[in-house]
Formats: sequence, structure tokens, C-alpha cells
Amino acid sequence: MSEVQSEAVTPRDDLIDPFGRTIEYVRLSVTDKCNLRCFYCLPEGHKDFEEAGNRLSFDEIETVMAAFGELGVRRVRITGGEPLLRKDLPTLVGRLAALPGIEDLSVSTNAYLLERDAAALKEAGVGRINVSLDSLRADRFRDITRGAELSRVLEGLQAAREVGLDPVKINMVAMKGINDDEVEDMVEFCIENGFTLRFIETMPLGTSGSEASKHYLDLQEVKARLSERYDLTPSVMPGGGPARYYRIGGSELKIGFITPISQHFCETCNRVRMSVDGTLYMCLGQEHNYPLRDLLRDGVRGEELKGHLLQAIGMKPERHEFREKPYQIVRFMSATGG
Ligand code: SAM
Repeated sequence: MSEVQSEAVTPRDDLIDPFGRTIEYVRLSVTDKCNLRCFYCLPEGHKDFEEAGNRLSFDEIETVMAAFGELGVRRVRITGGEPLLRKDLPTLVGRLAALPGIEDLSVSTNAYLLERDAAALKEAGVGRINVSLDSLRADRFRDITRGAELSRVLEGLQAAREVGLDPVKINMVAMKGINDDEVEDMVEFCIENGFTLRFIETMPLGTSGSEASKHYLDLQEVKARLSERYDLTPSVMPGGGPARYYRIGGSELKIGFITPISQHFCETCNRVRMSVDGTLYMCLGQEHNYPLRDLLRDGVRGEELKGHLLQAIGMKPERHEFREKPYQIVRFMSATGG
């Protein structure tokens, strides 16, 4: 980064929410479409996707992210829906990677198209990648995703490793009676392949969230079970987000537990989400939002746009209420940018 550019970056404490949390991370949804139909995420046959004209263009996304970068955002995760379905994604990555202030660009994907795109994404500036993978058994994977082929994900993971995306983190939503008998298998798989592993609790959101919650599994139980078999030492992971990490003795593997329900982590929340239509969501589990698309299309730019972003951050709620008010959020994870 040139000196001129780094001087142009405003001090990061601009983006402080009403509860004193510094916002330095944006999860950016580039599409709400997905090529998988995980039963707990999207309803079967779901077709109600955002119209093309309502999606932010690359120019509009870049404008917002440039303003966020100037205000102190340092990390951007590209997500969806399935982000690799967005045409020319590596081009967008390259444009975001070049923005002053943005130091860390990552992608969350189901890896179905990763064999095709891993090299181009890495080349364009993606450093690390998160891959959702709930089962290592082909038949079960097909059931959970309503028809997808596990082999394609495994090929995608292989490609990620080969091009040097590091770390590769596997995200497994742990569900009672669905895949809870596979947590040890997933640990062994990640040890063998040098991946990081994170277990995630189901969250009651979207109409499919009730499907997820039927299978809710408290991850404290999973941790207790794993500690009978493995030596778990508390650990940290740079850029590890809300997960609480442990190292598995005798290996390089770090496992993280993301526990929005059994032990929420809202007091350290440092993020906001931007959906595909340019709405900023302040919290995954609340409705507080700030629509930016019309402002952008009316020509709002620069200091005025930054003023809107600051106003939005001023609306960030203290915490989600998944426990107190489950299912109050009807939008899908894939719409908000999970
Ligand atoms: N397509 C990308 C992927 O597969 O990682 C990014 C979007 S996907 C919506 C992001 C994550 O949300 C996935 O790991 C998925 O398992 C998770 N997810 C969706 N609905 C959920 C729910 N109700 N509870 C917990 N996790 C959920």
C-alpha cells in the first residue's frame, strides 16, 4: 500500500457501536442463490431469490467496501448463498483486495465449484477459505444437502490445499441424530488433511431453522465427548472469530466451537453483514437493518456514504435473542450472508 493511500485511511475507532464494540469485519453476500439445498438452511424447491436488478453490482459493492475500509474495516468475508455462483467472482475479489484498509479477504463456500475456482480466487487475493461440510458419508451428505455429491466437495478441498489457501477451515453444523456420530471422524479427517475444524450449533432462523432446531446439539456435550478421547488444550486462532479453540494433543489440529445458543459471544461481536441487495444487517439474529442500495443508486458517495455507515453502526443491537425469541427472524441464513 502506498503512503498516500495509508494516510487516507481514517483511524479505526470511527466504527464503534453503542456498546463499545469496534466493527472491523464485514460479511458480504454476493448472491442469495445456492447450488445445494441443505435441509436446515433452505426449504425444498425454494425459488424466491432476489431479482438480478436488485443485486448490487461490483461497482456498488466496491463503493461500499471502500467507504468501510476508510472507516476502519479490515476484514471482508465473501459469502452467500453460494458465492462461487456469482459470475466473475475473482474479478470482484481483485477489486476488493486492492482497497486501502482491507487486509484480509476470505470466502465461505460449500466447495462444490472450488476445483474450478480455487486458483483464480487465490490469485485474485483470497488468503483463506471456510468450507461447509456436515458429513463425510456420501449417502448422508446427499440426504443433508438434498442431492449433492460429496466427491465434488472433496475435490474442491483438495484444490484449495494445492493452490495454498491457508488455513482451510471446515465448518460442520453438528446435529443430534443427523451427524453427531461423525464428530470424531471429522476430527481425524482434518488431522489427516491439515485442515482446521469448527463445530457450529444450529440456529433458529429462517423457515428451515425449525428443521435445524429439532436437531439442536449443545456443543458443550460434543466437547466433553471429544475430551474423553483427545487431549484438548485451550488455544487461539488468529482471525478465529467467535469460535473457542482447542488444540488436539499430538497433532497440529485446532478445533473451534461456535456456540451462539449455549454460550453466546455477542459481547465480542465485531461484524456486520451486507446482503445481496445492499441491505446492511447489524445482527444475524435481529431485524435492525439499513438499506444502502437506493442511496447508492441516487449517487450517494464519499463522506455522505460514510455518514450513513456510521448511522447504521449506531443501530447495532446488544445481542441476538435466539433463545428468548426463536424463529423471530424469518429471513434465511443464505439471504443475510451466513
Ligand atoms: N454457501 C456457503 C457455505 O456453504 O459456506 C456460505 C453460505 S451458508 C448459508 C453459511 C453457513 O451457514 C453454512 O456453514 C451453513 O451450514 C450455515 N447455516 C445455515 N443455516 C443454519 C442454521 N439454521 N444454523 C446454523 N448454521 C446454519
